[in-house]
Amino acid sequence: MPFDLSSVLFYVRVGIALLGAFIAALWLALTLWTFRDMRSRSRDPLAQVMAALVVAVLNIPGFIIYLILRPSQTIAQSYEQSLEEEALLQQIEERLVCPGCSRATKADWRICPHCQTALKKVCKQCGALIELNWNVCASCGTTAPGKEGKLGEVEEEE
Ligand SMILES: [Zn+2]
Ligand SMILES: [Zn+2]
Repeated sequence: MPFDLSSVLFYVRVGIALLGAFIAALWLALTLWTFRDMRSRSRDPLAQVMAALVVAVLNIPGFIIYLILRPSQTIAQSYEQSLEEEALLQQIEERLVCPGCSRATKADWRICPHCQTALKKVCKQCGALIELNWNVCASCGTTAPGKEGKLGEVEEEE
């Protein structure tokens, strides 16, 4: 089989063209991926375009720089985290504690079983529990025990 230079050159040329197409596709894919990835991490359109531009100009080194510098959380992730933190805070706030001994109490307890501190008042009219700082019963509207004088003042203001 004789050595055919023209067919070898043809295959070399095809190889170079394929490699060029692959690199161009890779470059486009990296740039697009960066733009989409940044869009999920930042609402700032300038930051999105800048990130894509860095990768478009610097190619693979730019892509590596982007991976190092990009925001660590996506918008969805940080939203989820803030929801979790809020729920945790609410749990702490809702945890009832005895003012006398700082031990955990329950919402329907009238007196702390540990130190006998009064936690709630009882309505004379309907027997419902009333918070110590409330002036009237939340169930029936009767003036709370020990606050009879205060209701008169409220009525005068109205
Ligand atoms: Zn107590
Ligand atoms: Zn009542």
